[in-house]
Order: sequence, then C-alpha cells, then structure tokens
Amino acid sequence: MDKAHSGDDVVLSLDEVFALSKSVLVAAGLTEAQAAPLARVLTEGQRDECHSHGLFRLPGCVQTIHHPRFNRDAVPDVTDTTAAVTRVDAQFGFSLPALEAAMPRFVEKARAIGISVLAINNCFHITALWPEIERLTAQGLVAIAMTPSHSWVAPAGGTKGALGTNPIAFGWPREGQEPYVFDFATSAIARGDISLHKMAGKPLKEGWAFDADGNPTTSAAAALEGAMLTFGGHKGSALSTMIELLAGPLIADMTSLESMDFDDGLKAAPCHGEILIAFDPAILGGGSRDNQASSERLFSAIADQGARLPSTRRYAARARSLANGVHVPRHLYEQIMALPRAG
Ligand code: NDP
Repeated sequence: MDKAHSGDDVVLSLDEVFALSKSVLVAAGLTEAQAAPLARVLTEGQRDECHSHGLFRLPGCVQTIHHPRFNRDAVPDVTDTTAAVTRVDAQFGFSLPALEAAMPRFVEKARAIGISVLAINNCFHITALWPEIERLTAQGLVAIAMTPSHSWVAPAGGTKGALGTNPIAFGWPREGQEPYVFDFATSAIARGDISLHKMAGKPLKEGWAFDADGNPTTSAAAALEGAMLTFGGHKGSALSTMIELLAGPLIADMTSLESMDFDDGLKAAPCHGEILIAFDPAILGGGSRDNQASSERLFSAIADQGARLPSTRRYAARARSLANGVHVPRHLYEQIMALPRAG
C-alpha cells in the first residue's frame, strides 16, 4: 500500500483504518462478527486522537488473540437475570462482541424501569470505555462503565501492584450537542501511555511510577517492570478499589490480581469483567424539573470561566479526522503492515 504521507506520518482515511484493523484481526483468527466491533472502536480511538487506544492497540490485540486462553470461537451468551440486570458471558473472547450482543436488552431495561445494569463476564478487555458510553448517551441515557485490568498499580502508601489501571467513564446526554463524557484510568497515567513514552524516549512525570524494587522512577521502561501509582493519592486508591469490587467480586468475576494470575506471564490484555450502569433521565427526573436546563447551567459555569469540559479535545480531533483523515506514525504503520492481513 503506497499511502499519502505528511512528514513522518502516514495519512489514512477512517475507512482505511477500519479495513486495516479488521483484516489484521481476521487474519489473527477472529470471525468477522468478532473483529468488526473491535475494529470500529480502534478506528474511533484513532479518529479522536486517543493514541494509546487507536491503531497502537492492534498489535496487542493480535498478541491477546494468540493467548492460549483466548477463545477465537467465542459466541457471547446473554442472560436476562432480572428486570434491571442483564449478564453476558463473553466466553473468553473480547468484551466488545459481548457488549454488542447485550446492548439491545440493556437499553430496553433502562427505558422500561429507569435503571439497567449490565455485567459482562469472562472478557479480554483492551479498549477505551468512552465509545460504549457514547453509544448510550446517543440513546438519551446517562451511563457509567468500569473495569479492572492487571495489578500494575500500587495502592496509596504502598509500592507493589495490587490494583489495576481501572478506568471509569461517565456520560451525560445533551440536547443538540455532543454529550458530556469523561473516561480515565484511575492510575496516574494509562499503561498504554507509558508504552508511548517508552517508544518516544520521554521520561515520565515524578510521582507516576515505581521501579521493580519499589523506588520512585521516571523511566518508562523501569515503570513497565515495576508499579504505577493511582491519581489523587488515597482518593484515587479508594476509587480504584471500588472499581475492583464493583466490576470484580460483585459480578462474580476476577480482580486485577486474579487477572494477572490468569495471564500466567504471557502479557496479553487483561481478562476479567466489566460493569455498565445506564439511567433513563426521563424516568428518574420524572419530568418535575428541566434536567437539561440545570445541567447546561452547570456546564456553562465550568466552560465560561475558561475551564474545558472533558471530551472537547476529542470532539475537536474527531472533526479534524472526519475532514482530513488520521495521521499514523510511520513506524507504527510499518509495524502493522508487517502483520498478517486477511483478503
Ligand atoms: P486522560 O488523562 O487522557 O483523559 C481523561 C479524561 O479527562 C478524558 O475524558 C479527557 O478528555 C479529560 N481531560 C483531560 N485533560 C483535561 C482537562 N485539562 N480538562 C478537562 N478534561 C480533561 O485519560 P487516561 O490516560 O487516564 O485514560 C486514557 C484511556 O485509557 C481511557 O479512554 C480509558 O478507558 C483507557 N483505559 C482502558 C483500560 C482497559 O483496561 N480497557 C485500562 C486503563 C485505561 P479528552 O479526551 O477530551 O482530552
């Protein structure tokens, strides 16, 4: 493929990113049905310039597909547990095909009774959470998603990994404009970003990580062998522990410690559960107040003083990418083009 390039970057259209991702995933052994949701979310990550969760993730996806415990023939199994609770067993495939299979019932229940909880079990999880949050806000629902990872993160006051990078994402739909969405790891930095620092030869900020001996480090390579810290000291540490409990034992799935044991040193994507909660504001608000007017007043009070709302960087990047395509670092493009591709 001879692609347009700009400096050290290769410029791809979003369709090309999707097609490239899907062909690599299918060549690695996924079915079309499994590959498509993952390729779509990687494309969305690249489109929104979330570089640690775009094409950069593709080689890691391939590595995970080759994990001996990854199920290439996984067919998600959805169970209607109660009027509010849906469970989907990803059968040791990726989380996204399971989410796709359960999404209609998950949304239907929120609309019917105001709140809906989705437990995804036994999933390899490698993706950012905001794409799934945006699917829910697009349906007019308020949403939260949480998942553990591997125990790379030390609790406040400790130096050894016990917690995961444990992302939490939240979305609030807004009339006539992009939703309010945040999505962050509860570690001081996402693990993928440490790898990006390592690749770029950039030091980490102080207070982000320990080396394998428990000494503070700014070396990305040493941090990858040691442990990261949570953000916000004891507050981030407790929030991260809550995510472990809600997306692990509460839904009968693995903690980050258990996910790390399950990986058995193979360095694949973490395997565990995920919990999503959706609220229907039409039911919870009961129509007694104009919830959009109140929330818009709050967003204005934030933005009007020059503070930015989370996701505004992403939405600006999205507009650029939709107009001009995406820039992929040449070394990453070449790494991906060296992978087997289907068709
Ligand atoms: P960031 O720190 O990059 O961003 C966190 C959030 O804060 C984003 O919503 C971002 O919006 C917003 N934000 C950033 N800076 C500001 C600011 N100055 N003012 C207001 N809002 C701001 O995220 P992380 O590095 O912690 O996480 C990156 C991704 O990694 C997440 O998508 C997460 O889901 C994913 N992840 C996935 C894991 C998994 O196991 N699947 C594990 C850990 C992380 P914006 O995007 O617009 O900048």
